[in-house]
Amino acid sequence: MPGEPIEFVGPYREAPTLREREDIQRFIDETGQPEAWPKLAKGKPDLALRWEIVLQFAVRAEVRPEGKLIPCCLCDDKPKFLEGAYIWGVDDGSLRCVGWCCAGNHFGGVRMRQMQRTFRNAQRYDQAAFWLMEAVMPVAEELVADLKALEPAVKHLTRERQVLHRLPTTEGLLKRACEQNNGRLTVEVEATGGMVPRLGLAGSGGTSNFTTVVVGQLRGQEFVRGTKGWRQRWEQLLKCAESLIYSDPLIVCTWSRKEVMDLSRQAAQLIREAPKFWADLKNATDFLSQENAEEIQRWSRHPDMPHRLRVQIDGGRVLGLYANGEGLIKLDLRCPSMPTLSGKWEQLRDTTKVAA
Ligand SMILES: [Zn+2]
Repeated sequence: MPGEPIEFVGPYREAPTLREREDIQRFIDETGQPEAWPKLAKGKPDLALRWEIVLQFAVRAEVRPEGKLIPCCLCDDKPKFLEGAYIWGVDDGSLRCVGWCCAGNHFGGVRMRQMQRTFRNAQRYDQAAFWLMEAVMPVAEELVADLKALEPAVKHLTRERQVLHRLPTTEGLLKRACEQNNGRLTVEVEATGGMVPRLGLAGSGGTSNFTTVVVGQLRGQEFVRGTKGWRQRWEQLLKCAESLIYSDPLIVCTWSRKEVMDLSRQAAQLIREAPKFWADLKNATDFLSQENAEEIQRWSRHPDMPHRLRVQIDGGRVLGLYANGEGLIKLDLRCPSMPTLSGKWEQLRDTTKVAA
């Protein structure tokens, strides 16, 4: 009756793991007796509950004891079949062995087809498990090493970003320069000869009597624009990569579906995010390059520069910025070099389609 409490028969609160299904398959291959697996529940399954196919098998008649067919639990254990399946009771946690010949009659064609579909969909849990074991976990230590190699650059950028933050006027000026004109460092000069098209400003279709002069290109825009701290992003990625290190990847075979899917999702995200992070970080280091410092200096020296931005470069090592009468900040231009990521990331990215 609906609403009646379901009796837990067990022992499977979760679907049998990959390891358990491998054990069952081996047992069937060795004995030819799928009905004798010790953890099977006896008696007829309650058809009102939810059932999932978790394993399919076929046994040859020659290996059967006395050549007898396999008894069917749907038909009072009468010998009935050689091909069938293990079904798992989602609600009662039991595992039962049924024959195809009878299952269709008892469950009905529509429900059987639905169960077959669910079984095919469930293959993705196994695919994710194999992906973790065979593709991801064996290279996890290399992924961790790749991320650790970025630490000096992360440290440097974090520190210099905090320095820049101390002079909000300069930061605001540079931010605006990023946003306008795709990072081109521009000044506006009054045009002679009346109205001319306003150049370069995004979304501006009108005219004005000012014209935009491009003085330089602001590199490393990620450095100025970055909202989330470098350190924080890096630590998250590192933690995620470290969680993929297992001395024995076969442990995945003993995990529940949820555990498998949680880690494979996390791994897929890491594989997507780390190269993006690397590219952002690389872009940010460009801000602290000598060339960029020189562009900013050229910008500040334009006679029509509307802001009072004073820039000095000391020995190619320090960029001094002084804006609108506020104090001087000094950015250290000697950013540690960034090693490139190993090819593992690219390889793994091609395999994530299987896991997702
Ligand atoms: Zn039957």
